Amino acid sequence: MSDLHEKGLPKNVIFQKLKTRLQQDLTYMSGRILGSMCTEPHSFAKRVYMQCLEKNLGDPHLFPATAELEREVIRMFGSLLSNPNAYGYIVSGGTEANILALWTARNLAKRKKHEVIASASSHFSFDKAADLLGLKLIKIGLNSRFQVDIKAVEESITPNTVAIVGNAGTTDLGVVDSIPELSEIALANDVYFHVDAAFGGFVLPFLKSQGLQAPAFDFRFPGVHSITIDPHKMGLAPIPAGGILFKDASIVEPIGMKVSYLAGGEANLATLVGTRSGASSIAAWALLMHLGRAGYEAVVKRCMKLTWMLAEGVRQIDGVSLVTQPTINVVGIKSDIIAVQLITKELRKKGWAISLFPHHIRIVVMPHTELSHVKAFLNDLRKITKE
Ligand code: PLP
Repeated sequence: MSDLHEKGLPKNVIFQKLKTRLQQDLTYMSGRILGSMCTEPHSFAKRVYMQCLEKNLGDPHLFPATAELEREVIRMFGSLLSNPNAYGYIVSGGTEANILALWTARNLAKRKKHEVIASASSHFSFDKAADLLGLKLIKIGLNSRFQVDIKAVEESITPNTVAIVGNAGTTDLGVVDSIPELSEIALANDVYFHVDAAFGGFVLPFLKSQGLQAPAFDFRFPGVHSITIDPHKMGLAPIPAGGILFKDASIVEPIGMKVSYLAGGEANLATLVGTRSGASSIAAWALLMHLGRAGYEAVVKRCMKLTWMLAEGVRQIDGVSLVTQPTINVVGIKSDIIAVQLITKELRKKGWAISLFPHHIRIVVMPHTELSHVKAFLNDLRKITKE
């Protein structure tokens, strides 16, 4: 680290420094990153993003065309999720989207209720949201298929329940909760129901056309108030690009703020951050237009094919096994005879960037993963378990 130079350095010197410094970062293209839900953004989306860096949706009337493109992205997501009338925003990520959902739920309940029912597998962004919003997160255990235990959810509802959270693609195993049943419970008890499909939202809608089972999770269930769906995960969009969709515009009214001083004129804003990347929306729009449904189906098909190969490979290695049959491109590997912490340590020594959960290793087969990477990983896993 150094202090701020008195005089600036030439650009070529800085580029050289950056080249050296950034070499320490892992790259997706190396194939070593097998434990991330992010990937190399699509080259077309990167090009578009670079052209729009100055667009600020925190002042939407200055950039009405960008704001319209954001609305179109939300409409496309809405139609993907069985509700073309959905309202929402492209935000900084799944965390912000989940915070916005619980913020909305709390304010719809006029701040009079304070309990949120989620699952033991819900992403830690809900812990953050609960902490920020003064809510109590009640974590429900899982059934034998690693879905939230529906009966326990039902029994945990109290007059103080402000919201239920369901997962459509859990962070640890890619499991989808029984959204139809959670929707019924939410309706019966008149509570807000949020579905976190931050990762699964760009996978599940594209499974069916390939003859694969895709649990239903979206706005077709009338209890669903909002859904998180992140373009910067399986959507191949540049970071930052999360997505939050509400059933309709009226739901977000309790968190909207009229801001009158904006250069573009008064606007009603209901996101967490003020200044907000317009490039994220524009790049997501361009990519959706470019890939279309068929493009995303091809991406998901390829990832799922490699997922099955990885799963089959794991099954054939003595000493390790699958936690559960993968629903989407997330694979959990466990062992009954070796501590997964030890296996992880050895895999990391060999350069694999994988995720460690308390009882399993998580592999996410992202679009940057090639067959050769899967084979090399399985070889190393076999060697390590043998040793
Ligand atoms: N929800 C789920 C299911 C996730 O897996 C993640 C991140 O992996 C998030 C939310 C948070 O997303 P972000 O890291 O974009 O804030």
